Amino acid sequence: MASTVKQVAVIGGGIVGICSAIWLQRSGAAVTLIDKVAPGTGNSSGNAGVFARCSVAPVTAPGMIAKSPKLLMDPNFPLYLRYAYLPKLMPWLVKYLSHANDTDTQRISRGLEPLTSDSLEQHVLLSKGTAAEQWIVPSDYSFVYTDKAAFEADSYTWGLRKKAGFIPEILEGHAVREFEPLLSTSLNLLAVMKEHGYVTNPGDYIQALAQEFQNLGGTLVLSAVEDFSMSDGKVVAVNTQSQRVPCEAVVLAAGVWSKTLSQKLGLNVPMESERGYHIIFKSPSPQIRTPLMIASGKFVATPMSNGLRCAGVVEFGGLDAEASEKPLAFLKRKVHEAFPNLTYQDTQTWLGHRPAPSDSLPVIGEIGRSSVFAAFGHHHIGLTSGPKTGKIIADLIQNGGTDNDITAYTPNRFL
Ligand SMILES: Cc1cc2nc3c(=O)[nH]c(=O)nc-3n(C[C@H](O)[C@H](O)[C@H](O)COP(=O)(O)OP(=O)(O)OC[C@H]3O[C@@H](n4cnc5c(N)ncnc54)[C@H](O)[C@@H]3O)c2cc1C
Repeated sequence: MASTVKQVAVIGGGIVGICSAIWLQRSGAAVTLIDKVAPGTGNSSGNAGVFARCSVAPVTAPGMIAKSPKLLMDPNFPLYLRYAYLPKLMPWLVKYLSHANDTDTQRISRGLEPLTSDSLEQHVLLSKGTAAEQWIVPSDYSFVYTDKAAFEADSYTWGLRKKAGFIPEILEGHAVREFEPLLSTSLNLLAVMKEHGYVTNPGDYIQALAQEFQNLGGTLVLSAVEDFSMSDGKVVAVNTQSQRVPCEAVVLAAGVWSKTLSQKLGLNVPMESERGYHIIFKSPSPQIRTPLMIASGKFVATPMSNGLRCAGVVEFGGLDAEASEKPLAFLKRKVHEAFPNLTYQDTQTWLGHRPAPSDSLPVIGEIGRSSVFAAFGHHHIGLTSGPKTGKIIADLIQNGGTDNDITAYTPNRFL
């Protein structure tokens, strides 16, 4: 008798893949999770750790086309380009910048909100009763400005957040340092967003989730996926460097590398790596209390188990180039400006890749009728929206549908 348990292969053990794998396994599927690196050691381990519920504003704000060349030259703005990469970047960049207008920005913002808005609840639900829940901290998430004028200069973005229901509490002057004593006296306005949260170590969090997946009976394969085997247009196996994994459905959650793999299925997703960096300041004295977005340097500072992690910077330069010195020097300078009294024993640096589709909306859903389900392209909100994406994917594969409106994320916009 044929088994009624669906065999599913999940490609990618980053936050989106691991969440999909757990929800699928919990819903009764037999899941094989495949990654070329161990869970918790890849791209998703180095982010700022914030469940950024209010992150509904895409990078491509109106006016960006005119501003970009100037911003690239501005030593106080964290935008970098490896010029040798420009010819390869150009086709994507043209499409990306074409969305830098009010109509598209409002549309993208409306598309992001359902994925981000209940992030804390989704993470709590995912990790409840597992070793992963020890890493979750419900908290405020605050945006730090020099003064009211700087805050008001960001009014377009705050307008998008307000439309999505996110209204900050404003603290000024002395109240800023009462809230966070480590902040420089040059920073005099805090926009505090309530009911957010963060993980104190994204790598350990993902490792604990991977352990939960295996405890549930899931299989982990450490190998690089090379291709899909198809029969009558449907996937029947995933071929890795070391083995063939037979399956009835696939979740393609390989982050920015999903672009190449999805091309094998006829999908042509304009997606680039938006390179980002972090510096961990080890044994900081003192540590900050809650995550802070420092607007003057556009980086997020998060109190983590292994130090103060400061993460940010946008650099375009592809997947292969080594880390660049300038973005890291910028980040270090801006951290010292924001926290002049910060002392620490040592630093550790990291470069990672945000998967950035040209239209700033994640790619979620079945690719044609292939039984391969896309779950990638989460740009700045992968940690935030990983559990929700995983639940949607599990519902699509196991129940044939989801309660969420996923029209905006359809992969078929790139077929
Ligand atoms: C500096 C920085 C700060 C950030 N801060 C935040 C934040 O605070 N909050 C937030 O929500 N988001 C944040 N992000 C974004 C977030 O980290 C990403 O959106 C998220 O990690 C993407 O997860 P993913 O699972 O889609 O991809 P990935 O984490 O890239 O996972 C993909 C996995 O697929 C594997 N893989 C690729 N190709 C193959 C193959 N052929 N075979 C097998 N395996 C393969 C890779 O090894 C990898 O482990 C930040 C990003 C950066 C860079």
